[in-house]
Amino acid sequence: MGKVIIFSAPSGAGKSTIVNYLLKKNWGLEFSVSATCRAPRGNEQHGKEYYFFTQEEFKKRIAADEFLEYEEVYPGCFYGTLKSEVERIWAEGKTVLFDIDVVGGVNLKKKFGSEALSVFIQPPSIAALQERLIGRGTDEPEKIEQRVAKAEYEMTFAENFDIIIVNDKLEEALAEVETIVNKFLFGEE
Ligand code: ADP
Ligand code: 5GP
Repeated sequence: MGKVIIFSAPSGAGKSTIVNYLLKKNWGLEFSVSATCRAPRGNEQHGKEYYFFTQEEFKKRIAADEFLEYEEVYPGCFYGTLKSEVERIWAEGKTVLFDIDVVGGVNLKKKFGSEALSVFIQPPSIAALQERLIGRGTDEPEKIEQRVAKAEYEMTFAENFDIIIVNDKLEEALAEVETIVNKFLFGEE
């Protein structure tokens, strides 16, 4: 078993921004590409940001026990981690980086224990979160409302993570994340 790093947060808190920053470093990290049955957003590609499956295909894979974990993150919309994805990354001798919802994040931390670092990215406020989702310009207003409405519930999970990073000023959040990930991987401050 290799190491894993788990990032969870309400949608719009800045998880993807932070994860992409870490992936650019030469630290042997690889993104776990999740499966989803939501539609691709913007330039998203099958096999890169997600494996895009129909709901029917997703359910078939659940029945075939292909997932390490999965959640119905939004009504009718499943997201899950394929076992094959984690095995592929470990086989390369790399550390798996997850961007996953709060429930999935807590479950994976329980599974991997001390081999996992779990990080909760917290927005400075719900209003800031909403502004960021509007600013990102990738979601319909109704989807934004759905995500903001769920955020308060998601925030209650923060204490279940190894560490909480408040993403107010991006530069500061990136520096904090860099320090804790470095320590987890290499034992250095
Ligand atoms: P998530 O992956 O958590 O849904 P993103 O990384 O896509 O969030 O960030 C949502 C939007 O907020 C993006 O447009 C991103 O550029 C912006 N953003 C990220 N961090 C900050 C920050 N600290 N201050 C202001 N805007 C931010
Ligand atoms: P988005 O639609 O914004 O890409 O993701 C919506 C939510 O689903 C985010 O909180 C994201 O972290 C979560 N998510 C993405 N992949 C997985 C996964 O494999 N499992 C679980 N449980 N959640 C996921």
